[in-house]
Amino acid sequence: MLSGAEGAGSGRWRCNATDQAGSLASVPRLSEVIAALETLWPAERAESWDAVGTVAGDPDQEVTRVLFAVDPVQEIVDEAVKLGADLLVTHHPLYLRGTTTVAATHFKGRVVHTLIKNDIALHVAHTNADTADPGVSDALAGALDLRVTGPLVPDPTDPEGRRGLGRLCALDHPLTVREFAARAAERLPATAQGIRVAGDPEAPVRTVAVSGGSGDSLFDHVRAAGVDAFLTADLRHHPVSEARAHSPLALLDAAHWATEWPWCELAASQLDEISDRHGWDLRVHVSKTVTDPWTAHAASATSDPLGAPN
Ligand SMILES: [Zn+2]
Repeated sequence: MLSGAEGAGSGRWRCNATDQAGSLASVPRLSEVIAALETLWPAERAESWDAVGTVAGDPDQEVTRVLFAVDPVQEIVDEAVKLGADLLVTHHPLYLRGTTTVAATHFKGRVVHTLIKNDIALHVAHTNADTADPGVSDALAGALDLRVTGPLVPDPTDPEGRRGLGRLCALDHPLTVREFAARAAERLPATAQGIRVAGDPEAPVRTVAVSGGSGDSLFDHVRAAGVDAFLTADLRHHPVSEARAHSPLALLDAAHWATEWPWCELAASQLDEISDRHGWDLRVHVSKTVTDPWTAHAASATSDPLGAPN
């Protein structure tokens, strides 16, 4: 059940009130839930530098509540404790480059201590969720009400040509850059950053490339796709400056967290559907806590950031 519904009991088997036949709903073990998540985001599809999979957790522990979030930070782990979650699934890894200590004197070690003390497992789906079908950029496109036409960088191992990094999208009704930026600001979760724009605010947008998370390594692919606009995160001065000099492509830069958060809702609904199919008594939640590290934004003195004539 994808909700904040209360009332999870205890015990391996319990009556599923929603099942009119009165059959028993089962409480899955962590190993069963992880196996289900692995069907959505197989670990072997992660980039070689990535660190995905189960970070903490006993395969035999029961799972009745799952929390999805972008970042495995203390704030989110505390939220999982408060919620009574048994499993936290995050997009970003806790330890991307390994560690030699989980001492609670370090903030990451404290996360590990909080998880283990509270019997909460942590599982990570990162680049294997980015390229999945559906994946992080499908969720981003969905949040922006865009029609996905294919991956921006197709995964050559996918015979159907649906998996890959980023997504190419079409708008059923063209917008101006100004209108598309306003849509992104309205549809993506609110952050201190909002949406930064590079380009002519009145230029038409019919086709868009989107990529959840840092996207400035993808400019060559975006240019080759010939789209009108590219929405991603973490765009830097020089790549943007060069991309603007190269073509009239409009660039929209959203907060990294905001571009990946829609995946949490997609992923939660996918697990919820799997849970229903298995007859699991599982409550699936999505954290709404903003963990984008930028916390405030002071606008410059000039009034309209999109340059409306005055
Ligand atoms: Zn990310």
